Amino acid sequence: MVKCCICGEKIEGYGNNPFPLEINPEKRCCDNCNDTYVLAARLMLIKPEEADRIKKLIEAVREIDTK
Ligand SMILES: [Zn+2]
Repeated sequence: MVKCCICGEKIEGYGNNPFPLEINPEKRCCDNCNDTYVLAARLMLIKPEEADRIKKLIEAVREIDTK
């Protein structure tokens, strides 16, 4: 069984490459974390000037998740 290296949930299927949040190539993350955190982190790498805006979006998504 493979666990998501970000949230610790069990991964269905193959999971996703969590780079750049995790540089160990053997680690995997779930679809949910991939969509929420990994894609956002990649955007920050490509567009550092957007990092603040992206961080705020992530925080907004996290608040929805915990409600
Ligand atoms: Zn996850």
